[in-house]
Amino acid sequence: MAEQPREPQRPLPRLKELDTRAFWEATRNKELRYQRCDDCETVVFYPRRHCTGCLGSNLSWYTASGKGSIYSFSVVRQSYHPFFRSRVPYAVAWIDLDEGPRLLSNIVGVEDPGADLTIGQQVVVEWEEHEELSIPLFRPA
Ligand SMILES: [Zn+2]
Repeated sequence: MAEQPREPQRPLPRLKELDTRAFWEATRNKELRYQRCDDCETVVFYPRRHCTGCLGSNLSWYTASGKGSIYSFSVVRQSYHPFFRSRVPYAVAWIDLDEGPRLLSNIVGVEDPGADLTIGQQVVVEWEEHEELSIPLFRPA
């Protein structure tokens, strides 16, 4: 009997990468984590070993509420990747979390991203679960 073709999967981040491992491990528990410098209070995102404000290494982890707003976005209408091709049109957006980090993600839960999204719109995280981690996506709040 022929096997059913597997549905295309989202490409996932590598869990073993030293700087971002703690971030992705926390996503298993649906925690959206970021770093802040103990010395100068600069918010650091994406995760890394040094502060982008003072180059110090006294960074602590915090958990964001998952609420934020759209800083900017673009609508993808054509993709050659099998996973993303099935999702066009979709929005790729910079999200400003209420706590300060800015991260790149997708906006889900909208019919027509070109018409339904605006700069500054309030959004909230929605987790896409996978075996070893979850992907933080966002939907209008
Ligand atoms: Zn600093």
